[in-house]
Amino acid sequence: MKSPPTVGQRDELVHVSALNEFVYCPRRFYYQRYHDEIGTPYELVDGRSKHQNQSSRGGWITERYFRADELKLHGKIDLIESGDEVFTPVERKRSESGQYYPSDEVQLTGYCMLLEAALNEPVNVGYIYLYSTDTRHAIRITKQHRETVHKIVSKILEMTVDNQPPFTDNPKKCEACSAREYCMPEETARLEPEKAAGTGWEDQI
Ligand code: SF4
Repeated sequence: MKSPPTVGQRDELVHVSALNEFVYCPRRFYYQRYHDEIGTPYELVDGRSKHQNQSSRGGWITERYFRADELKLHGKIDLIESGDEVFTPVERKRSESGQYYPSDEVQLTGYCMLLEAALNEPVNVGYIYLYSTDTRHAIRITKQHRETVHKIVSKILEMTVDNQPPFTDNPKKCEACSAREYCMPEETARLEPEKAAGTGWEDQI
C-alpha cells in the first residue's frame, strides 16, 4: 500500500470525487475549489452516514486510499469487491431518482484506473450501487471512459481562480445546486444577459 501524499503532491493530483463534481457543473466545482462558503450538500452527508452503516460488512475491502502520480489522480475507494483474485470497485449512490448519471460513470472510471495502477493489471469493470432501488449496475470501462477522465483531469489542473467557468448548459441542475446562492444564474441572465450568452441559461428568461 502506498503511503499518503505530501501536501505538495496533493496539490498536483486531482481527487477522483472532483471528476464527478466537474462533470456535474464546472462552475460549481470552481466554487467548491476556490470559495469555502459553500455548505456540505445534504446528499453528501446522507451518503456518508450510509457508507458508515455498511462499512462493517465482511468479505469486502473498505475505505482504501490510492494515488497514481502518472495519472495525476488520487482518492479513497469506499468499497472493493474481491473474488477469485478479481478486484472490482463499487461506487455507492443515494440517487432518489433511481438512476445513475454520466458523472457517476466517470467517477467510477477514475477508481478503476487508480486500482489498476496499484495492482498493475487491468480493471475493466466497476459497479454502481443505488441505495434507492437496492440495485447494482455493472459498468464496462471503455477507452472513451478513460479518455474522458484524462481530459477532465487536464481541465481541472489548468483551472485558475481568474477563469470562472460559464453557467451549466442544463439549468435543471441548478435547482439542486448548493452553489446557486453564489452563482445566481437566473438573476445574472435577467440583469446581465450578455454573461449568460451561449449557456443553457440564455433561453430560460
Ligand atoms: S447554480 Fe447552476 S450554473 Fe451555477 S454552479 Fe450550480 S449548477 Fe452550475
